[in-house]
Parts: sequence; structure tokens; C-alpha cells
Amino acid sequence: MNLKVCKFGGTSMAEKKTIDLVKNIILSDETRRFVIVSAPGKRFASDIKITDLLYECFYEKVRSGSCAVPFARIKKRFYDLVNELELDLDIGYHLDRIQEEIDKSATPDFAASRGEYLSALITSEILGMEFIDAAEIIKFTAKGVFDAETTNDIVSHRLSLVKGAVIPGFYGAMPDGSIKTFSRGGSDFTGAIIARGVMADVYENWTDVDGFMTTDPRIVKDPLLIDVLSYEELRELSYMGASVLHPESIFPLQGTEIPINIRNTFNPSSKGTLIVKDTSVKEGRLVTGIAGRKGFTTILIKKSMMNAQIGFCRQVLSVLENYHISLEHMPTGIDTMSLIIPDSDLEQGMEFELVSKIRGKVNPDSIFVYKDISLIAVVGHGMSHQTGTAAKVFTALAKADVNVKMIDQGSSELNIIIGVNTSDFEKAISAIYGAFFG
Ligand code: ASP
Repeated sequence: MNLKVCKFGGTSMAEKKTIDLVKNIILSDETRRFVIVSAPGKRFASDIKITDLLYECFYEKVRSGSCAVPFARIKKRFYDLVNELELDLDIGYHLDRIQEEIDKSATPDFAASRGEYLSALITSEILGMEFIDAAEIIKFTAKGVFDAETTNDIVSHRLSLVKGAVIPGFYGAMPDGSIKTFSRGGSDFTGAIIARGVMADVYENWTDVDGFMTTDPRIVKDPLLIDVLSYEELRELSYMGASVLHPESIFPLQGTEIPINIRNTFNPSSKGTLIVKDTSVKEGRLVTGIAGRKGFTTILIKKSMMNAQIGFCRQVLSVLENYHISLEHMPTGIDTMSLIIPDSDLEQGMEFELVSKIRGKVNPDSIFVYKDISLIAVVGHGMSHQTGTAAKVFTALAKADVNVKMIDQGSSELNIIIGVNTSDFEKAISAIYGAFFG
């Protein structure tokens, strides 16, 4: 029989009316046997996610010795939820214990994880399904690294003993039992771990959009939905800003054939986006999607005969390494080399320190810093072995009067990365979208 693992995100778990939708989705298909939930998210634009409030509780307790003030908001939200859902669940007992724990000794990870914990308790009560704590089955090493193989053994054994279960997303436990969370949005990752552990036929990831769009709907109105996407394309698009799914969610599934199906809790009749291992190209599709990220700095280094100077690149890169700065791209010419660095890695004014260190190391003829650079990725397996994709991209940019600052294409031909001034970012994305999908 088919077996589905379903993960529901924060907006799906936010309030009674959304949880009712979740309930209908699960109960309408008996193969939806394992359910992973996020903490309740925002109910309206100015609302605060439970996870954010829980971090606030931890920091308030560090500041003042007690988390009581922010925790009161969490209490109210869960009491209201349980009352509206008319559940016979003593939520007060759990809330009091959590408050005590945070005040006593808890870490930020423990505090943050409790949103998923409570959300899963509530969901298991509603569905009449067993609650299995993620701390019991998802394991980290003593150094806090996710222990994939131990976890997989435990998950597959433990879940083979039950018909179905509700499991909190986002966290697991270290060998001493203390709670460790994944990075933000990590319930997607939990869903993938469970899907692998039970060898699901599909991992359904239920969210608040129909799936991956061919580009950012904040830039292009009503872009087309991507119906099928490969793991690799997904990785490129989510890394470059398409935020539907945690970019690391595919890792647990990489050795398997399990597809991820993005679905919309608020529009369950849409088939969503199917993410598959197979990289064979959909007939006639050249480009799968276009994504982009703002916030990069370029350091352009020029030195005559650079190419002949052995160790030049290594010496430049050692400067970045010493500052723990990650390099996004490094296009090079005969006498030039550009370093493209995310601004999030640069503290205020740090680029000038880097410039002086690089000068000291390799004595370049000149060195320039360009701020406010954005990167755009045009992604698709379809462009390999096909001529004309790059021409189409750059013709569209030229027509839109966008100055291209950088071009990078890997030999996998899975993507073309283009650097533009941030002031041209939206214009560039719209122009490329128009050329391929307009
Ligand atoms: N609740 C966590 C967060 O807000 C994890 C998740 O929802 O996936 O990041």
C-alpha cells in the first residue's frame, strides 16, 4: 500500500480554522500515516510566530531571570487554541513545565523546540494518532552534528511498530538527552528524515503556496507554477532565494527515489510541485525557474600576468579564510579575478580590511570594491546540450538596459548565474522571465 509522510508548516498550524483543514487532509487519505508539524506560525501579517516568541522567552530569562512576561503570550495562544478546538488535553500542565524548564536551565534550542512539541501534542489529540517525540528518534552527536545513520536506524525501527504517528519537526536530541534544533525552517528536514526512515512513497510538504513558481511572485505577477523539478534544480533555486522549502531538505532523500510533493493546505485541489531525483528534461523545457538574491559585494583584483603566477588564487583566498568569509563565486580572467562575497559575511567596513590584506599578500596592480550587487540564477537541466539559452538571457537583459556585472556558468550547464546592480534586480528578473515564459 502507498505510504505518505506529510509535513505541515507554521501557517497550516496557526489556528483552529487552518488546523481543521489539516485534519481534513489527513483524514481524507488513509495512506497519510506519518505527520510532522511545525509550531503555530503567523495568523495575520503583524502576528508573531510561536518559535520567535520562544526565543524571546529564553533571552528574557537570561536578561531578567524570568521568562514570565513573553511566556504569558504563548500560554494565551495555546489555551485559546485548545479551547477553540474543544480538546480534552491538559495543555496547562505542559505549559507550566516548559515555563519552569526555561526559567531553570534551558538552552535556546530547548525553548525554541517547544512550539513543535506542543503543536504535535495537539495534532495527535485531534487525529487520535500516537505522539512520538522527536527527541526519541532524531539524534545528534555530542558535537551537535546531525547523526543521519543512527537516526535512520532508530526511525525505521520505531515507526515500523506503529500504524501512524504525529512527530514534532525541527529538533532532536544529543547523546546526553539535551535538545538540539536544526536551522530555522528545519521541520522540512525532519519530514525528509521520516520519509527516508519509513521508505515513504512520497513526502508531502504542505505549505501556504501551490508550489515552486517559475520566479518570485513579488517581482512578476502570477508566474507559472513549476509542476516537476529535479532535486538539483530545487537546490539551486532554493539556495538562490526561492523559499518554499528548506534548501537542505533533499539531503536525507538523496540516496532514495522518494519524491517531495509541495502541496497547498489552502488549495488542496492543486497538484503542487513534484520534486524528483530524475534529471531527465521535460519535453521542450529550456529553463525551469529563475531565482535571485540581493546583498553581495564584489572585490575585483587586477594584476598583469596573474595567470602565470603560481599560488596567486590561493594567497588571495587564504585572506578570506582567515576572516571566516565564504566565497559565493570567483570568476577569473587572464589578469583579473573577482571575489563575490555575501554581505551577511562582512561586518561593517570589513571589505577595506580585506583589500589591505590582499594588497599585502599579492601586491595587485589595482583593486576595486563594488557594493550592492545581486545575483540571479537561471536554472534548468533543459539548457544543457541546447544552444541559444545564454543568448536569450543576455538579449533580454540588453533590451531591458540592464548592465551585466558578472556571468558564471558551471560546466554542468544546470544554471547561469548573472550579477547585476541591485537597483536593476527586479527589472532583470522580469526581463528574463519575459524571455522564457512571457
Ligand atoms: N518553527 C521553526 C521555525 O520557525 C521550524 C519550522 O517551522 O520549520 O523556524
